[in-house]
Amino acid sequence: MADVVRETDPQGDLKRLTQSVYNNSRIHDKQLAQKKDVWTKSLSLIKDQLDSQIYSAWIKPLSLSRIELDLLGERAIVEITAPNKFCHEHVKQNYGHIIANTLADVTGSNNIVLRFKVATSPLAPSISSALSKNSKKVTSILERKKKRAYLVKDSSNLNPKYHFGNFVVGACNQFAHAVSMRVSENLGSNYNPLFIYGGVGLGKTHLANAIGNTSRAAGKKVLVISSETFVNELISSLRSNKMQEFKDRFRSLDLLIIDDIQFIIGKERTQEEFFHTFNALHNRHSQIVITSDKVPQDLTGLEERLQTRFSSGISADLQAPDFETRVAILIKKSEAQGFSLPDDVARLLAEKIDSNVRELEGALNRLHAYSSLHNTQIGIELAEEAIRSIIPERTREITTELIQKTVAEKYNLSIKDLIGKRRTQHIIYPRQIAMYLCRRLTTCSYPEIGGLFGGRDHSTVIHANKVIVEKLNNDIPLKKDIESLEKRLKG
Ligand code: ADP
Ligand code: MG
Repeated sequence: MADVVRETDPQGDLKRLTQSVYNNSRIHDKQLAQKKDVWTKSLSLIKDQLDSQIYSAWIKPLSLSRIELDLLGERAIVEITAPNKFCHEHVKQNYGHIIANTLADVTGSNNIVLRFKVATSPLAPSISSALSKNSKKVTSILERKKKRAYLVKDSSNLNPKYHFGNFVVGACNQFAHAVSMRVSENLGSNYNPLFIYGGVGLGKTHLANAIGNTSRAAGKKVLVISSETFVNELISSLRSNKMQEFKDRFRSLDLLIIDDIQFIIGKERTQEEFFHTFNALHNRHSQIVITSDKVPQDLTGLEERLQTRFSSGISADLQAPDFETRVAILIKKSEAQGFSLPDDVARLLAEKIDSNVRELEGALNRLHAYSSLHNTQIGIELAEEAIRSIIPERTREITTELIQKTVAEKYNLSIKDLIGKRRTQHIIYPRQIAMYLCRRLTTCSYPEIGGLFGGRDHSTVIHANKVIVEKLNNDIPLKKDIESLEKRLKG
């Protein structure tokens, strides 16, 4: 190919073409290397989480056929190939969550879309069925042994990754950690319910699952469920006339963990059902653990009787970690992943990334990926580079809270006014603007936005959005206001 080019243009084009061929093959090689690296790393982490026989029987035969990371590394589509249909189904059902969680850790992406497929050249039926039988045999032996059962997916829905052993304690979370330990050792005692609250990525889900995993290992019946899933399951039980089963499922538990309770705001039927579930569990001294982004009193739109119930046990907050804790978390996470992080690099990351642990983890994963991709040691320079790709991402993160705060400030209102019940024009208008911005700049759905604005119905948000969109066509001052608000929000 190069020869042809040399004939037509010995100077410029050849240089450009070879450069582009070189670049393309480099990109290709790089992608291949990256894919291989992601998978190798994931396998070693999955291996740590599973019984070695389970790992060899089910996980080792898998291969990673495709991985597509979007530009920001937020979403990754991963395709896994299984050697046969039986393996495909078994893995998907039983280990899908472990694989997805691990891939999330390794790629630093918080949204993993996992797809499974069966190898294209299927094995002859006899071999394949022999394999299946063999795998079945392995499983039945394992089941008889009942080895470390909690590592196999079960109905508890717990994330095995989160336990007390890998939770770093600092001033920011000492109390929450101590209470959680206490609760896990003694379910249904005085600390019931335990209400854990704090900002995004500060360890609420981690702590709640740690309580669950400890209790489960002690033979307790545990269920962790996000309040969103609770809503969905309630709706589908209502629809299919299976309310009794729904009730029974919750009410026989020793420990119920509801993660991110804030999503039941504005959903009256769910709150009603949850109230009864709560009482039933509480009466039989089953433990309830709730996580939330706010204290019960600040959960506007939550029924008062639930607020009262939630405040009746003990509340513990999680604060953003201080510098020393951030360093300790980085060191612990890198050790867990099997690589060593030089002190100066840990300090640099901890200095630059101070808002939440999830971001800190993301930076660490990215740094590790950079170093294996470029085949270089982790050092300050590489860290600077990895951080550069994180920081702009953070400034892009616009939350509904930030929108409410910014809009309230601009129009001299309090947030309470903005999300409250009053319907005077000088409040309605900014409220509609804020709803419009939430819809435009965040990924929240209409019902979620309604919930965040004092538990309003989604139709109110749809209406607000429509009003602003229509006005924007010819209302120049409004257009200017929105532009300046967006500019401020994008920081
Ligand atoms: P939240 O539920 O509060 O949004 P998570 O529990 O999901 O936050 O935590 C985000 C990530 O940060 C998780 O991977 C978790 O393991 C990690 N993390 C948070 N706090 C700690 C801590 N104190 N020690 C170790 N890891 C932590
Ligand atoms: Mg969480």
